[in-house]
Amino acid sequence: SSIISTLALLTSDGGKVEDRINRDTINIFELIDKLVKRFQNVSYKKNISIKTKMPKDISIVGDENHLVKLFTNLLRNAITYGKQDGWIKINVLRRNNFVEITMSDNGIGIENKDLPYVFDRFYRADKSHSSDGKRTGLGLAIAKWVTDIHGGTISVTSSMGKGSVFIVTLPIKASK
Ligand code: ATP
Ligand code: MG
Repeated sequence: SSIISTLALLTSDGGKVEDRINRDTINIFELIDKLVKRFQNVSYKKNISIKTKMPKDISIVGDENHLVKLFTNLLRNAITYGKQDGWIKINVLRRNNFVEITMSDNGIGIENKDLPYVFDRFYRADKSHSSDGKRTGLGLAIAKWVTDIHGGTISVTSSMGKGSVFIVTLPIKASK
């Protein structure tokens, strides 16, 4: 059912989506800190450490449920495609009117030929993880959709066997 509701979101045509998006004030530190704590249990099995460097005073305007999905999908990938005893680093910094959230891992990495497509729906680069039957190839398409509707960007650089870096930017809430 989560796939169905996600598909509904991803396939609904542009204009109307905005009406269904909440515009809450969301503190980035609190949002990511909460998710990292939630993921400590999962990463524990692979002994993957999650380290964060985040200022506490950056807020954006957006939809909490969608933003949770965005960072959950990135974190879940970093663990799924991470190596035993690996690490994940999350760095947050302010760049003019945008907050830049960088998530790095030292996992299996993504081949150059796959990089342009990882944000496409149903695209899966690493076929070895398909045997578990749970992966759909939608995680990053959703992440891209969420950044788009918030007026942000998402990009990736990666090196095979060394790891991946995902960079999300989102507009900072204007102070009045
Ligand atoms: P789903 O997230 O829907 O369960 P998925 O993980 O296969 O399935 P995406 O999250 O969209 O799909 O990722 C697309 C592909 O990009 C993955 O199949 C994987 O090959 C690659 N990928 C994504 N994140 C990473 C990462 N941190 N390290 C290495 N490869 C990654
Ligand atoms: Mg995924």
